[in-house]
Amino acid sequence: MGKKREVDDRFRKFGTVSFTSVTKINDFIDYLEKGKVMGSTCKNCGLAFFPPRADCYQCLQSDMEWFEVSGKGRLITYSTLKYAPVGFGDDLPYSIAILDYNAYKVFGRIDGLIPEEEIKVGMEMVTRVNRLPKGHLNYIFQKP
Ligand SMILES: [Zn+2]
Repeated sequence: MGKKREVDDRFRKFGTVSFTSVTKINDFIDYLEKGKVMGSTCKNCGLAFFPPRADCYQCLQSDMEWFEVSGKGRLITYSTLKYAPVGFGDDLPYSIAILDYNAYKVFGRIDGLIPEEEIKVGMEMVTRVNRLPKGHLNYIFQKP
């Protein structure tokens, strides 16, 4: 059986990337609550990031400023899921997509109220805050 650990953290070793509730970009959530979807720009080299990053992988500096994802982006690809990971099954079917804003791209989900036949690669869409049950927040792509 082995000795019981105080904190069972064995899954810390699983995979290469983990989700964490503690990040350097927690202001992202405050902005969502204010109705704004934000990315970050490196003040040193000008590279824009979405999702926002606190550290620039291009020049390795950490001097960042926030910018708002606003205006229209162009839908460059999407995929409609008929099978989803655990926890997302109730949302099926839904479409994940990438909008191109020129200086950066935004990966996200298309508003489920838009019929699939109206989704066309090349169409313009906007990124908007989406309020979920229990006070949770995310963002979705909608028609302008
Ligand atoms: Zn940089």
